[in-house]
Amino acid sequence: MSGGDGTIFALASGAGLAAIAVMRLSGSESGAVLAALCGGPLPATRVATLRRLWNHDGDMLDQAVVLWLPGPNTYTGEDSAELHLHGGRAVTEAVAETLVTLGIRPAEPGEFTRRAFLNGKLDLVQAEAVHDLVSAETDAQRRQALRQLNGALGDLYRDWSDRLRTVLAQQEALIDFPDEDLPPDVEAALLATMAELATAIGAHLNDDRRGEKLRDGLFFAISGPPNVGKSSLMNALADRDVAIVSPIPGTTRDVLEARVVLGGVPVTMVDTAGLRDAEDAIEAEGVRRGQARTRDADLVIHVAQAGSPWPDIPMDRTNLLVANKSDLGGPGPVGALRVSALTGQGLDELRGVLSARARAMTETAGAPPLTRQRHRAALESALLHIQAAQAVDLPELRGEDLRLALRALGRITGHVGVEDILDTLFSQFCIGK
Ligand code: GDP
Repeated sequence: MSGGDGTIFALASGAGLAAIAVMRLSGSESGAVLAALCGGPLPATRVATLRRLWNHDGDMLDQAVVLWLPGPNTYTGEDSAELHLHGGRAVTEAVAETLVTLGIRPAEPGEFTRRAFLNGKLDLVQAEAVHDLVSAETDAQRRQALRQLNGALGDLYRDWSDRLRTVLAQQEALIDFPDEDLPPDVEAALLATMAELATAIGAHLNDDRRGEKLRDGLFFAISGPPNVGKSSLMNALADRDVAIVSPIPGTTRDVLEARVVLGGVPVTMVDTAGLRDAEDAIEAEGVRRGQARTRDADLVIHVAQAGSPWPDIPMDRTNLLVANKSDLGGPGPVGALRVSALTGQGLDELRGVLSARARAMTETAGAPPLTRQRHRAALESALLHIQAAQAVDLPELRGEDLRLALRALGRITGHVGVEDILDTLFSQFCIGK
């Protein structure tokens, strides 16, 4: 089984100083290269074995735990090996140099996973999950990626493909054998399946982008007039000084961002420039950008000063009212959270409310959620073709739309024509994955 040209190697662990660095090899030369590097016979299959590693001049490179992993039961499906080296840069570089002299080459980004896909070890949705798992910053993201890696999402899409394929076969039978004794309800049954599929795909698409939001992170804007303490609040929530806090109104001239984790969801908090009449061009630009960011936000945190006039804002799931400077006294409007960025009063409650909102926007129940724009685009196309097939006057014309819908679904898991997207997709991976 071969998934690509030649045998490749890469550091699978992160670069930089570490106790151990894992170098991974994959391809038909892995065994021969490992034996040459160890200067002796291959260790027993799948047994971690301590060996000395040598370069071509007979200099010892390192003393390492090595693993010989013959295919096809490996990550890539090919013969593979792992070298658990001492983690220093000089060691990993010397070993890499020797591997090149032994005739193998450094891997491209994502090349191991690409080979796993090409050798049928993973479908495309699972390959994407590997990337998401490696990039996961929070627990909720990790769980979503693992679920996708386990194949639940791919299974859902394959189940839809299988049902659509059956519909297509029945439709062809109706056309090819109109005079045969097909059961009278075949047409009704296939129309019913098409309607079920359209409903299921529509519901999956219409999920408020929950899975995609968890994967990409949410976006909360902090908005309000100058000097009410927006920057101070953002610093307090982010636990570090990201925004410039100043008693001079309008100091925040641009959009400042901080990444925080709320309720297991990564959230980019954006402190918008004081939304007031700008006095100079730079500030005007800051206000303009702030307004644009506020429009895109999943949640706008409207800040005002306790005791001051209160903006007229609907209390809905995209808005939250916060009365800052509660330490100065003065009544806050009904429904607003009273906090003080200065004393910390009410901040835990604010964090709790923000976490609950973040969870509510990303939580999914039942079937695994849609996680990528690539899948969304393919599903939208599949749904349009199914709907077109439902709408045709002549049953003979259904076949073409059903075929196009099937093709769109197949592109998600990588079962049909995906050569054009492989380069883009795997180049997003790190080297060594
Ligand atoms: P922004 O323009 O809305 O971003 O406001 P800043 O965060 O720059 O704060 C403006 C001023 O209000 C600064 O002098 C802060 O120290 C002060 N300030 C911020 N939060 C509080 C608070 O909760 N209580 C009091 N007393 N002062 C605050």
